[in-house]
Amino acid sequence: MAGFSLELNEDQTDLRDWVHGFAKEYIRPAASEWDEREETPWPIIQEAAKIGLYGFESLATWFSDPTGLSLPIATEELFWGDAGIALSLMGTGLAAAGIFAGGDPDQLAEWVPQCFGDENDPKVAAFCASEPQAGSDVAGYRTRARYDEATDEWVINGQKAWATNGGIANVYVVMAVVDPDLGARGQAGFIIPPGTPGVRPTKKIKKHGLRASNTADVFFDDVRVPGRCVLGGREKLEARLARAREGKSSAGQAAMATFETTRPTVGAMAVGVARAAYEYALEYARDREAFGRKIIENQSIAFDLANMKLEIDAARLLVWRAAWMGRNDVPFTAGEGSMSKLKAGEVAVWATERAIQILGGAGYTREHPVERMHRDAKIFTIFEGTSEIQRLVISRLISGIHIR
Ligand SMILES: Cc1cc2nc3c(=O)[nH]c(=O)nc-3n(C[C@H](O)[C@H](O)[C@H](O)COP(=O)(O)OP(=O)(O)OC[C@H]3O[C@@H](n4cnc5c(N)ncnc54)[C@H](O)[C@@H]3O)c2cc1C
Repeated sequence: MAGFSLELNEDQTDLRDWVHGFAKEYIRPAASEWDEREETPWPIIQEAAKIGLYGFESLATWFSDPTGLSLPIATEELFWGDAGIALSLMGTGLAAAGIFAGGDPDQLAEWVPQCFGDENDPKVAAFCASEPQAGSDVAGYRTRARYDEATDEWVINGQKAWATNGGIANVYVVMAVVDPDLGARGQAGFIIPPGTPGVRPTKKIKKHGLRASNTADVFFDDVRVPGRCVLGGREKLEARLARAREGKSSAGQAAMATFETTRPTVGAMAVGVARAAYEYALEYARDREAFGRKIIENQSIAFDLANMKLEIDAARLLVWRAAWMGRNDVPFTAGEGSMSKLKAGEVAVWATERAIQILGGAGYTREHPVERMHRDAKIFTIFEGTSEIQRLVISRLISGIHIR
């Protein structure tokens, strides 16, 4: 087990500075344009792929850091640049995490590189769990996967909602019900290879924030995928279902397994946005004058900035703790992954709102980025489990009671 230290090693500081440099040079200056265009920023994805910042190898390198900190460090810097563009760069990671969480080594080797494409032709991937009637309620999925013995294929039917990269993905990772009698324990993850017929995305959804990130519903109509596309393999799935039918314990729900591994990373995204808004407001308050003095000389403004710094650092510490625990298989006995995402998400919404207040009228306009940051930040109390669902996870774990 790697020890937990707040002193970053040289690899980590190099990574932080490199990603920060990219965010400062390519992401931040383009943020407003892609937000207004509401389009996927392919030129930035291509540039990131070219220098090795976007791709299977970079994700694998960040993920393999035994301290667990490289991934949140890089993520925070990208989201410091801009959340919409950064989600276009990191959304594929959620699909890759789904394969990591449920797949075997052969599946990882075959499919994760196809999620990202290569440096000359980068691709994106989508993780499809939520459905129109079931977002928080992960036991309520209706998308069905049926095994066809005759052809050794899985046949998938259903509708997935709000998929990041839906409609532009090379590979889809889809959660589906294989045995409805088993509820949440009767689900499995499936890989939908590139170009599979029957994948029908809706048009891109118009959103409050994260407008440079593509979000769409996706219909799966009689989608046939090879038998080997069930995550973990059919044998393992059958054994898990048999255990569940006998009432024995089985290893959790497929979608929940993915969320457990990704929540600290989502927390790091929120920290990046919160820090960006704080830094912008601090500079503005140092510069702006009212009543013949700099507005930062007013205690109410200075205390707001002090509180922002305090809360952002506290959120980052929770994120780093959870990232270290997750990487070192330390059990989340009090929902530490959920805590990190919950705290960071709520700090991001609060800090970006405070930043607008510090800028006054200017903060409410699109001439300054804090308006966009506030719109973007709201997602962190919603996706990957709403704040209420994180509190449910934490309260159940600390109480041992099935709180509803
Ligand atoms: C921009 C964006 C990108 C997304 N990307 C993806 C993606 O890539 N893949 C994917 O699978 N999904 C994605 N989602 C979906 C997202 O994860 C869901 O929206 C989220 O989980 C909430 O589900 P819901 O919208 O159905 O809300 P609901 O579950 O309908 O919840 C509505 C409200 O009720 C509350 N609530 C529900 N149940 C309880 C309870 N038991 N106790 C207390 N309160 C409760 C919720 O907290 C919430 O406030 C995305 C969503 C957005 C907006």
